[in-house]
Amino acid sequence: MRKKVIAGNWKMNKLPNEAMEFIAELTPLVKDTENEVVICVPYTDLFYSLMHAQGTNIKIGAQNMHYEEKGAFTGEVSGEMLKSIGVEYVIIGHSERRAYYGETDETVNKKLKKALALELKPIVCVGESLEEREAGKAKEIVTTQTKLALEGLNNNEVEKTIIAYEPIWAIGTGKTATKEDANETIKWIREEIEKIYGKEVADSVIIQYGGSVKSGNAKELFEMSDIDGGLVGGASLDSTEFAKIVNYNV
Ligand code: PEP
Repeated sequence: MRKKVIAGNWKMNKLPNEAMEFIAELTPLVKDTENEVVICVPYTDLFYSLMHAQGTNIKIGAQNMHYEEKGAFTGEVSGEMLKSIGVEYVIIGHSERRAYYGETDETVNKKLKKALALELKPIVCVGESLEEREAGKAKEIVTTQTKLALEGLNNNEVEKTIIAYEPIWAIGTGKTATKEDANETIKWIREEIEKIYGKEVADSVIIQYGGSVKSGNAKELFEMSDIDGGLVGGASLDSTEFAKIVNYNV
């Protein structure tokens, strides 16, 4: 039975005092959930968030990392740096990083390998644009992105990788994929994994849906056969709303 992982992606939002306040509000609201609760916060909030989440069931993640350990990469943060302060999760290859910061399938693959080597828990994002979906290319796009992201990983590493299927047209737009479309696309991803790594691995990989998830649609999405929780942007900025999403099955 795959666990549901509900991860917030705060993007470039919240100062440390706001992060600490959020965690104080969220803690009692999600303390009884059986779902994995993660918030992926800006780098400047990581340390404060980790301190304030101690002793709770809230896990802290970063939104990006570099694949090199150290060196002349101004402005970058390495996986080792994240690990050194106790960060547990890291988002890799979010569509905003692919669109604005030159992230490619190749850098996603390098980052994923590095994150796994450091025992960080990676959430790798894949997803098609509206034009690609309308042109009937969604399957090709998401399965290719998945295959290239996972290239060179062994079965055990694939099992530890969380994939977030995020159709680009649904991110921050208020448009959500229908539960049937989201589930079908996630099944395509799972089938691709099965082709390369076998059924046992494919059945155990956690694959989230992301794209305008909110408390009003979380239940119908997360109850689908292949959707193992969500990566939540805008709706994760409000502790009450995020808690409702986490508690969709209560
Ligand atoms: C995201 O940032 O990964 C995301 C899915 O954003 P939103 O929920 O705001 O669409």
